[in-house]
Amino acid sequence: MPKSHVLRFNPSKFQENILGWYHQNQRALPWRVVGRDKTDPYKVWMSEIMLQQTTVPAVIPYFLKFTEQWPTVVDLADADDAEVMAAWAGLGYYARARNLLKCARVVARELNGKFPKDLDGLLELPGVGPYTAAAIMAIAYGQPATVVDGNIERITSRIFAIEDAYPEGKKIVHQNAHRLFEKIEVWEQQDIKAYPQALMDIGAGICTPKNPSCGLCPVQRFCKAFAEGQAEAYPVKAAKKAVPIRHGDVYWITDGKGNIIVEKRPDNRMLGGMVGLPTSDWDINKGKRSENSLNLQEILQSPLKIGKIYHVFTHFRLELAVWVVAMPDLKKLLKYSPDLMIVNTHMVELNKIGLPTLFLKAARLAHKNV
Ligand code: SF4
Repeated sequence: MPKSHVLRFNPSKFQENILGWYHQNQRALPWRVVGRDKTDPYKVWMSEIMLQQTTVPAVIPYFLKFTEQWPTVVDLADADDAEVMAAWAGLGYYARARNLLKCARVVARELNGKFPKDLDGLLELPGVGPYTAAAIMAIAYGQPATVVDGNIERITSRIFAIEDAYPEGKKIVHQNAHRLFEKIEVWEQQDIKAYPQALMDIGAGICTPKNPSCGLCPVQRFCKAFAEGQAEAYPVKAAKKAVPIRHGDVYWITDGKGNIIVEKRPDNRMLGGMVGLPTSDWDINKGKRSENSLNLQEILQSPLKIGKIYHVFTHFRLELAVWVVAMPDLKKLLKYSPDLMIVNTHMVELNKIGLPTLFLKAARLAHKNV
């Protein structure tokens, strides 16, 4: 379509097309209620926290597990920290799990078990930022709010062909996203609830980051990026910086009888609050490692290196050398820290204590080599 054939952006037509598409094509997701049933803010909040940086298919089993085990915010607030952290294992970005618990306790203990019904009140909750607060306002309460997740950002940048490169361009995209939500304050609550979810579904299934299905898109006629034949070029991203690599050691300390040492990681370290294998610090500069806080390097005699594991975090790539240490009496080590524990090495047991993926990689390597 030549550029001149794109229709001028008409918010009410755009919105009508989006809602019309949604009523025929919406995804069935466990946190959505169909029809006019009252939406549960607890479930909306939980799904939005889990969905930060994680895909819908990965979140669904966790959402079902959490809401079955802790059906209300009060149940979650009363849960044991270790149990919640273990249930979260595998979903990644563990600060979200700690904030989930903190937030549940604030709502249950200070707010009588009720989530605030205003944006400012929601923004005061631990782990709730502008996006999550807006999503709860719109999806749980049917109150007008501009909800901008990654999907809606992408649609906005393409509809208006916004050329400002990220990260600076993100602000311009967010400013323009308000245009998609123009005049929704006069809508019925059901439509206010449906609209951001409709945009998210279109972003997830049609206006995808790669190979968008513009032929199926209900708002193609308003889309400048499509008219330019350049849908995939938006949002415009600045050239990526090289990801730094950090190095360190991880220890498989075994008594040779099927038991190993694990530690509860301090809250101020990566994967804080989770149970992990003992490690050195993960120094950013190769060859300049600092000592482990537990002085394990001093304690451990004749470790045997069995290989390396690799893991990618948001801001760096981690390479950990895996060392096996034979120590017939593991109990001797427990005196060094109350955070050290002895557990069985069976993979079922390691999954049960919620060992994060990084450490499961080391465990698999150790199982193959010991
Ligand atoms: S026409 Fe294509 S690029 Fe434009 S909003 Fe629709 S799917 Fe996205």
